[in-house]
Amino acid sequence: MAKCILCETDVTGVGRCDYCGLHVIHDLGDEKRIIEKQADDHRMKILSRIKAFGVKAYQYEIKEDDLDKKEHYITVLPVGENFEDEVTWSNQFGNAVKFDLGCAEVDLQLYIETMNNERISFSATLEPPRIDGHWYLGLKLNKNLNLEIYLGNKDNHTKVDDLKIPINHLGFNN
Ligand SMILES: [Zn+2]
Repeated sequence: MAKCILCETDVTGVGRCDYCGLHVIHDLGDEKRIIEKQADDHRMKILSRIKAFGVKAYQYEIKEDDLDKKEHYITVLPVGENFEDEVTWSNQFGNAVKFDLGCAEVDLQLYIETMNNERISFSATLEPPRIDGHWYLGLKLNKNLNLEIYLGNKDNHTKVDDLKIPINHLGFNN
């Protein structure tokens, strides 16, 4: 089975990669450099449509004996042309949301903010980190366009290594 040279997704047959939509997917030996250049260009095209990654969070306020639930969209990772080696942590998220430490897993409502100011939602499920106090959300986008997600802090966290993001909603697979 061939792998997509950009995102490393297994690809059957010829055509476009199901995940990132890249056309040329097979390594043709001498033409490898050309294919890699195409992959780099394609990656940049995808990134140029993404403004940032963020998370939807809720803030609770007690108002006249009622619990008022407010939705917030919090930008965590602005996307540029360069890939960072470091995880980008959001301070806001930990301050805005306190999790129930008894829960078995945490469902995060993440989104891609596009250059057209649309939000494309996707989710991730993580184990809660075993720490007291506030949790923070860390994100890192890898060169293969998979997302690393961290919950906790720099020293103590749970993580998802290779979450696939909804690239197909950015208009590359049609
Ligand atoms: Zn691909």
